[in-house]
Amino acid sequence: MSRLCVILFGPPGSGKGTQAKFLRQSLGIAHISTGDMLRERIAAGDGLGLQASQIMQSGNLVPDEIVNRMVEDRIEQADAVKGFILDGYPRTVPQARLLVELLKSKGISPLVVHLKVDYNVIIARLSGRRQCPTCGALYSVTSNAPTVSEVCDYDGSKLVIRDDDRPEVVGERLRAYERQTAPVLEFLKSAGYQTAVIEGADASPQAISKRVLDWIEKQGVNAA
Ligand code: ADP
Repeated sequence: MSRLCVILFGPPGSGKGTQAKFLRQSLGIAHISTGDMLRERIAAGDGLGLQASQIMQSGNLVPDEIVNRMVEDRIEQADAVKGFILDGYPRTVPQARLLVELLKSKGISPLVVHLKVDYNVIIARLSGRRQCPTCGALYSVTSNAPTVSEVCDYDGSKLVIRDDDRPEVVGERLRAYERQTAPVLEFLKSAGYQTAVIEGADASPQAISKRVLDWIEKQGVNAA
């Protein structure tokens, strides 16, 4: 059977990371988040991390060559043998072009899930977002608060606000999305990929996850 690939597409704050974590559990496939991988490189303090850090703090996109190489390496790892979820990639048309070729060479036909969320909701969500620096779990102070304020439910770490969730940076991230990422969707559709538009703001994360999974299963894929 061919490997499963789910591309989670949508603006920053549309819930890609949260949905990817649900999908990883339900489908038993790897979660590949270029944003998380870049943040790991920043935490490791290497040269690439240093370069990425400044770009990310300004709300702009990291050069294609860097993320392309990271993804090419990552999908070869053991946990991605059965399949993988791409969260935050591809984010530019050149990235999408490379991905289409890469998947074609592996005989993989991906499923694209477009999480649609209104910009006003996104701005409100990002300003209340918190993340666990240890396990990456995501919370919202309004809609998905941890049991103990500012503390991760899973490992007790103190939650942090990402640098790029500051209001002055959020605007730039949304502009980068409009300019560079929104055209990627048409590109993926024109590659012939199956695409679903899923409303990502009118229900709980769990209910949205069910919508996503139902659609994936309709495409002939079974949960783990
Ligand atoms: P969000 O989707 O909420 O913006 P991410 O964690 O996916 O959060 O990304 C954070 C930042 O990391 C982006 O603003 C960008 O600078 C960088 N980044 C992540 N993925 C990519 C990518 N595929 N190409 C270029 N830059 C990326």
